Amino acid sequence: MESPDAPQQTDISNIGEFGLIAVLRDKLGEPSDDDLVSGIGDDTAVYRVDDDRVHLLTTDTLTEGIHFDRAFMPMEHLGFKALSVNVSDIAAMNATPRYATVTLGLSQQVSVEMAETIYEGVKEACDAYDMTVVGGDTVSAHALSLSVTVVGEADENDVVYRSGAQVGDKLCVTGDIGASYAGLKVLVRNRQQLDEQGEDFQPNLDPFSYVIRRHLAPPAQLKTVKDWADAGVTPNALIDISDGLASEVHHLCEASEVGAQLYEPALPIDPETRNTATDFGEDVNRYALIGGEDYELVFTMPEEDLDALDPQSYTVIGDIEAPEDPDHPVLIQRADGENVPLQPGGYDHFDDRA
Ligand SMILES: [Mg+2]
Repeated sequence: MESPDAPQQTDISNIGEFGLIAVLRDKLGEPSDDDLVSGIGDDTAVYRVDDDRVHLLTTDTLTEGIHFDRAFMPMEHLGFKALSVNVSDIAAMNATPRYATVTLGLSQQVSVEMAETIYEGVKEACDAYDMTVVGGDTVSAHALSLSVTVVGEADENDVVYRSGAQVGDKLCVTGDIGASYAGLKVLVRNRQQLDEQGEDFQPNLDPFSYVIRRHLAPPAQLKTVKDWADAGVTPNALIDISDGLASEVHHLCEASEVGAQLYEPALPIDPETRNTATDFGEDVNRYALIGGEDYELVFTMPEEDLDALDPQSYTVIGDIEAPEDPDHPVLIQRADGENVPLQPGGYDHFDDRA
C-alpha cells in the first residue's frame, strides 16, 4: 500500500505534451540573460552572438515504435527525416541552418551497415540543406533513436516569430498538406496486410508513391526562406507544420493574440492524397487539418507583399482577424458555406463527418 506521505504522481497523459512543457518551463523560471532573444515557446530558441546577428537552436528526436516503424522506414530516409524535422524548425524562424550534432540510440538489432545507411540519409540532408554535421554521440538503447540538434543563423531583424500575425494579414501555407498522413495510412495498411497474408501478399504501392515519400522523407521548406529573401519580403508570423495545420494555426493565433478565418475548399491537397483518402473512405480535409508531419510552412503576410512571390509557391487559406470568441479563435468555412469552430485537433464535431 502507498504510504500516505508519498507525493502524488500525475500521469503525463492528464496534462498532455504541451502541459508538461509548461510545467518544466515553470521549474526553470524566467531566464535572465541579456543575449537570449527568445527561449522556450517558438520553433527554436534565439540568442544574440553579435550586435545584429543571432543563432537559432533546436532539437528533435525520432524514436522507433513512436515516430517510425522499422518494418517500413528505410534507414537512409530515417537519417534524412531526422535532419529535415530540425531544419524545418530553423526554416520556421526564417533562418539558415549551419551545424548539426546527431545522437544515435542503438538497439541490439542495429548493425554497422544499418548505421552506415542511416548516415547516407544524414549526408543527403546535409548536401540538400548546405549544412554540416560536427559531432554527436552513440549510446546503447532499447529502441533505435536519432536525436538531432541544429544550430542556424540569421540577422536579428530577419527572424520571424509565431507572435507577429496582424489583423488583415493573409494566412498562407506552402506546398500541399495531408500527404504525409496519407502515406502513413498506406504504410500501416501495407504492414497489416503483409502480417495477415505473408508471402502471398503482393503490394502495389505505385499509386501511393508521392504520399509515401512525403511521410518517409519529407523535405524542409528552406527554399521558401531563400525565395522570401530574394523577393525582399518577410512574413509577419511563421510556424512549420509538425502536429497538423489546425494545431499550428492555433499556436500562431494564440502567440499573436489574433483569430483566423480559414476556408476549407482552399486547402492545398495533392490529387494522390485525395485518392488515398477516397481509398480509405475518409474525409481528406481531416488529413490536411490534423494529419501532421507535413513540414510545410504556415505564414501570414499582408496581401500586397504576396504579390512579390511566385503564386505557385504558396496558397492563401484564410485571413487573420480580430478574435471575436476567445473560446473559438479559429473558424473554418466548409464547402457548403457553414462556418464552424476549428479545434486544435480538428473540427468541433469531427465524429459526425468521418
Ligand atoms: Mg515547429
